[in-house]
Amino acid sequence: MGIATVNPATGETLKIFEPLSAEEIEVKLALGEATFKQYRKISLEQRSQWLKAAADILERDQRKFGEIMTLEMGKPIKSAIAEVNKCALVCRYYADHAADFLKDVPVTTDGSRSFIRYQPMGIILAVMPWNYPFWQVFRFAAPALMAGNVGILKHASNVPQSALAIEAILTEAGFPAGAFQTLLIGASQVESIMKDDRVKAATLTGSEPAGASLAATAGKQIKKTVLELGGSDPFIVLESADIEAAATTAVTARLLNNGQSCIAAKRFILVESVADRFEQLLVEKFQALKVGDPMLEDTDIGPLATPSMLLEISQQVQETVTKGGKILTGGQVISDRPGNFYPPTILTDIPVDSPGYSDEFFGPVALLFRVKDIDEAIELANSTIFGLGASGWTNDPAQQERLIEEIEAGCVFINGMVKSDPRLPFGGIKRSGYGRELSIQGMQEFLNVKTVWIK
Ligand code: NAP
Repeated sequence: MGIATVNPATGETLKIFEPLSAEEIEVKLALGEATFKQYRKISLEQRSQWLKAAADILERDQRKFGEIMTLEMGKPIKSAIAEVNKCALVCRYYADHAADFLKDVPVTTDGSRSFIRYQPMGIILAVMPWNYPFWQVFRFAAPALMAGNVGILKHASNVPQSALAIEAILTEAGFPAGAFQTLLIGASQVESIMKDDRVKAATLTGSEPAGASLAATAGKQIKKTVLELGGSDPFIVLESADIEAAATTAVTARLLNNGQSCIAAKRFILVESVADRFEQLLVEKFQALKVGDPMLEDTDIGPLATPSMLLEISQQVQETVTKGGKILTGGQVISDRPGNFYPPTILTDIPVDSPGYSDEFFGPVALLFRVKDIDEAIELANSTIFGLGASGWTNDPAQQERLIEEIEAGCVFINGMVKSDPRLPFGGIKRSGYGRELSIQGMQEFLNVKTVWIK
């Protein structure tokens, strides 16, 4: 389809965009480079004021921006508006904390004075996915701009209006032309941009193949990358957990954003003694949800973002069932209406050789597993190529400590769902990627950590 807005709730193509030509890309890279030379000298106070102005614009027009996202990728409008407000939060966070994060750090050595100075690198390329069209971009842009870097965005091809809106917000906020530019381009145009000397580093959030491809190009150019890739996060429920609370949170943890979140709880690992109760509660709660028009305030689950996402999840479910998995609820594409609708679905008795055991399920499908005890739970949780986040439910401090220590993931949340927070680093291990976003660590990824030593 190329670069276009296609309403996932109706299948209607609303707007098609021409990808930039090589000449147009050159103009943007030249502008980014020229802007960087000036922008890096702009005071932190000024950058901070612009970023706070961006936060004000996001809050002012939250409904308008929310509707763009819902129109382009189908998330329920309530979540879309919440996402816009979270972007304002990350802008304010970095506007308030950057001066502290970037200040010189004195170190005592054999010199008369030595210290660390943090300096920007230049143009940073951000390749972003459609699932959180605003949040993914702002969590990159806010620290990058505060640090004195300039950004270029290659957004997913199905969210061009979101991509353009973000550039417009930052321009209206006062950032100079070239500080943040949206490039409407296809994935095949990324390689040559990554090879351009003016582009110093890149961050990519998306699938493993996309991450591997960008990182391979960057590696040949000796350029740094941060990769935030897929996940198959475990949600572990042990004997002493509050089962009602765990089941209630499980619904949001699995189905937020129509189930299309990298940090969604995807595998529910239940010890036998609580499994029946948890399963019964989860089925009841899934069946009570309202699937429908994502523009309506009372809709819980909208359509999947694209027809290919719908096809993939339905094939994964079918194959898991063919191999012996059992459907507890849902499991069939909703075919009596247009759009990419799939119902909240729960699978259990999942065979080891089926997709349900090993693949990431990027849609509203919960995979239930039963285990004997915490040893088996940890072993199963870690038996995946991914390592993004984990949620563990237990009120036993010794068991909490074991989950914290032994789960292979970039984060562990105890008695709560995995979520991102500007104050906490965010990222994965194993094939979920490397590097961190958010917090001070997120800002440091794209800085030259310059050592200064004076005799
Ligand atoms: P995707 O196909 O990898 O797309 C993500 C971005 O990468 C898009 O802008 C896409 O452009 C671009 N892209 C694709 N192939 C590329 C290539 N070879 N070289 C350069 N750029 C390329 O991912 P998706 O299917 O849309 O998103 C779902 C995946 O993202 C899931 O695995 C999910 O877990 C992961 N994700 C991870 C996080 C995290 O923080 N860890 C957050 C959200 C999503 P086009 O749209 O033009 O193809």
